[in-house]
Amino acid sequence: MATTPQPIRTVKAFYAGRGIRSLSRDVARKIIISLKASRRNPTGSTGWVRFPYYHHVFDDERAGFEKHLRYYKSIADIISLDDALELMTGDTPIDGRYICITFDDGFKNWTDNALPILKDMGAVAAFFVATDYIGTDVNADRDKLLKFYDSGDKLMEFMTWDDCRSLHDAGMTVGSHSVHHAHLADIDYEAAQAEMVNSKKTIEDELANPCDHFCCPFGVPGVDFDTTTHPSMARDAGYKSFLTTRRGPNTLGADPFAVRRDHMLANASLLEVRYFLGAEDNP
Ligand SMILES: [Zn+2]
Repeated sequence: MATTPQPIRTVKAFYAGRGIRSLSRDVARKIIISLKASRRNPTGSTGWVRFPYYHHVFDDERAGFEKHLRYYKSIADIISLDDALELMTGDTPIDGRYICITFDDGFKNWTDNALPILKDMGAVAAFFVATDYIGTDVNADRDKLLKFYDSGDKLMEFMTWDDCRSLHDAGMTVGSHSVHHAHLADIDYEAAQAEMVNSKKTIEDELANPCDHFCCPFGVPGVDFDTTTHPSMARDAGYKSFLTTRRGPNTLGADPFAVRRDHMLANASLLEVRYFLGAEDNP
């Protein structure tokens, strides 16, 4: 009998089984970033909103995440997604530095680990869920869950709708990350529309609250979504924003349907955080 994969609760388990080549690439990347980080400083400028985005805060990443929050607080104000969009689309210059923390996918470690830390630190964040995965069970839905990542061997636990309600009740934003974690560029117009419309309706029904924000799975403009089609499709579906994975700051006049975000791992060093938040534009 094959061994049953266990749900992944640590970053150590998440990266277990990676080849030596991949690991050494990581070490090299960390060294280069650390060297370059000294020349990048997010406090060198003001008038921006930056959106770090995370996927998971595993049990062994809690301390790292807490450290990130403390760093964000030391250089900026942590604000909600609605407030961030208001600053970007307002008619007065953005005075200061602002951080809007976001999360993609819908993992159980959000309520287990990220939420208590955010609450302790008095911080808010926006959480984007792929609705078809919410309420799945690691045993009953094992085959489906193992396909969430291409490697096919990582069993991730997702939240329940009660968990999503607890995020909302704690003052967090819950938005859509499509129904099926869809690669919009690969599906036709109607299917993409259904991903946006149906996930919005499910979240609104479950949370009894408007779902105003769409975060594009994978999120690279021109690769994972069509810049001329999908952002306007989200607007027509009733969303107020479309979040991407293009890096960089959002300044006054930035398009709420092309929000730039900076990918973060919760156990990344502060040098790495500083490196990514200090980048002027898409590196
Ligand atoms: Zn995603």
